[in-house]
Amino acid sequence: MFLTEKKDIQEIDEALKKYKKIGVVGCASCASVCLTGGSREVKEMKKHLEASGKEVTFTISIDEPCDKRVLKEDIRFVEDELKETEAVVVLSCGTGVQTIGEFTQKKVISGTDSKYIAQTEHIGEYYALCGGCDVCRLNFTGGVCTVTLCPKGLLNGPCEGHNGNNCEVFEDKECVFVKSYEMLKKYSEEDNLNKIFEPRDYGHSAARTKI
Ligand code: SF4
Ligand code: SF4
Repeated sequence: MFLTEKKDIQEIDEALKKYKKIGVVGCASCASVCLTGGSREVKEMKKHLEASGKEVTFTISIDEPCDKRVLKEDIRFVEDELKETEAVVVLSCGTGVQTIGEFTQKKVISGTDSKYIAQTEHIGEYYALCGGCDVCRLNFTGGVCTVTLCPKGLLNGPCEGHNGNNCEVFEDKECVFVKSYEMLKKYSEEDNLNKIFEPRDYGHSAARTKI
C-alpha cells in the first residue's frame, strides 16, 4: 500500500486562494486505508471548504484514481459538475493527483503528502518497508531492505557508528545489517554480504516516467 499523510490544511487553503468552485476527489484504495482520502475525509474536506466560503461543486470517491481506466469510467458521474469546477482537491497519492490533473485538465491541489510503500499492521499503524528505489536488492540482503530500514539508506554496511548489534541513529533498534546477516545465515547465504553494491543510479528514476 502507498502511504499518504494529510497535508497541512493551511497549504491547501493557500493553494486554493484564487479559486471559488472546488471539486473533491477521494481515493477508495490506499488513501482510504491510510485515513487520508476515504469517504470520511472527503466529507471533512467538503465541510472545511464550505466553512471557508467555497462552493463545492462535487465530491466523489474513485476506486483507484491512479488508474486511468477506472478514472475514465467513474469521472463520468460528475461530468457536468466538472465543467463548472475551477480546481479539484485530490485526496490520494501524488500519482492519483497527477492522473486526475492530466485527465480532467483542471487545476489540481494535492490534499496529502506521499510517503512510502508500507506494510499495514493495523489501520493507523504502518511500517515503511520499500521506497521504490527501482533496482531491488532484496534477493541479496536476505529479504531485508537496507535502503529503507537503515536511517542512512546504506547499500553497503554497516556504518562505523553501530553500537554492537544496535543502530547508531535509533539506539534501541537493531542495525538493519545485523538483521540482514541473520536472515542470510538462516539460508546459508552469508557470502552475499561480501557483495559491494554500486552507488544508486538516479537516472533510473527519470527513465521510468514511461514504462
Ligand atoms: S531495495 Fe528496498 S527500497 Fe529498493 S525496491 Fe527493493 S525493497 Fe524497495
Ligand atoms: S548502525 Fe546500521 S542501521 Fe544504523 S545507520 Fe549504521 S548501518 Fe544504518
